[in-house]
Amino acid sequence: MQVSDLDFDRKYLWHPYTSLRDPLPVYPVASANGCRLRLEDGRELVDGMSSWWCAIHGYNVPELNDAIHEQARKMSHVMFGGITHEPAIELGKRLVKILPKGLDRIFLADSGSVSVEVAMKMAVQYQHAMGFPERQKFLTLRGGYHGDTTAPMSVCDPVTGMHQVFQGFLPEHAFFRRPPGGYATPADPTYEAELADFFEQYACQSAAFIVEPVVQGAGGMHFYNPAYLRVFRRLCDRHGLLLIFDEIATGFGRTGELFVGGGGAGKNLSSKQEANPIPDIMTIGKALTGGYMTLAATVCTHQVADTIGRGEAGVMMHGPTFMGNPLACAVACASIDLLLASPWVGRVESIRSRLAAYLRPAAQSTRVKAVRVLGAIGVVEMHEPVDVAAAQACFVEAGAWIRPFGKLIYLMPPYTITEDDLELLCRAVVKYV
Ligand SMILES: *Cc1c(COP(=O)(O)O)cnc(C)c1O
Repeated sequence: MQVSDLDFDRKYLWHPYTSLRDPLPVYPVASANGCRLRLEDGRELVDGMSSWWCAIHGYNVPELNDAIHEQARKMSHVMFGGITHEPAIELGKRLVKILPKGLDRIFLADSGSVSVEVAMKMAVQYQHAMGFPERQKFLTLRGGYHGDTTAPMSVCDPVTGMHQVFQGFLPEHAFFRRPPGGYATPADPTYEAELADFFEQYACQSAAFIVEPVVQGAGGMHFYNPAYLRVFRRLCDRHGLLLIFDEIATGFGRTGELFVGGGGAGKNLSSKQEANPIPDIMTIGKALTGGYMTLAATVCTHQVADTIGRGEAGVMMHGPTFMGNPLACAVACASIDLLLASPWVGRVESIRSRLAAYLRPAAQSTRVKAVRVLGAIGVVEMHEPVDVAAAQACFVEAGAWIRPFGKLIYLMPPYTITEDDLELLCRAVVKYV
């Protein structure tokens, strides 16, 4: 790559959450293989991000490459309106097998944000069909992240989601404080009582309660006790609200469970997952295709689907151009097969214990507020916002690809990472803090 290419990029290409007036530096990547990204200048970086929760098997994975090639020879895309195809059906069958029990009605969406849009529209259409057209608000938690399009943004944390800028444009929903932190911190009964009051106040105008179960990701990497999920379920049932779990980040094993939502019909179901409630609607994305293509899904119970079918519209009012894209479905099937055939439970557990051990020294730094680990997610929370450009230069120097945001430096490597590479990532973090 020539310098002029980087100049072109700087001047004309927006990157996620950047300014075109004064963009932060970007690193040109030429290829990626296994758990490493190779820069244009030949340097190799160990991937600590799984390209934002997606690349759970690493990069250039033979099984996934083959799935794409084979499907491309048959057809890369065909409209889903009035047509169906094997990759979509095969993906549907696999999802029904592994998703929480009863979540077997599947809407294939083209990105995580779109799947959340669809989930919210489903909830509104459901309430309309139930005879409650006035139930259009959503209840949610502070500190959440549900995507960047308008409806998801309206349920993102009002501060980090910049609701101020979009005031008047975004619909206004009701926010409650997030549960106290800590997966193993005992549930606080006063939280339940206060949340119950919040439901009393807003439920009659609300369609659903939408949350990221147990791990709030891009809103602050906050972990909370799964016991709160049962509180959410109880309150939704009491007030006739649908419960929506956004598992776009947590799905496909990242927390140590295949999904956080409970009662899964699949094997590999741990007793922990079984104890968790089943939502009415769930969104999945990110790791769905192993990071190869953009694809997401909104899944719901047959009760929700049937009710929408009986409603005034009679149909689910959504249908993107690239719905059910065969290439994406084929690679998603291959990724799920590869995951289930792999010792992923042991891998995630071993990443968890090593993250905990190798990140522990970071807690000694006076700049560090907290270190926490859950499944294959390791988080170092600083007292002050991280200087992203300086931190990244330091990480790249150490041979690590880590992208901090806000006060957070976090690792969520591919499940296939070696012990040495994981240690290199953690050392880079500890050295920086
Ligand atoms: C990433 C994410 C989204 C948005 O997905 P996109 O594919 O980026 O649109 C929504 N919800 C959660 C929990 C996420 O982590």
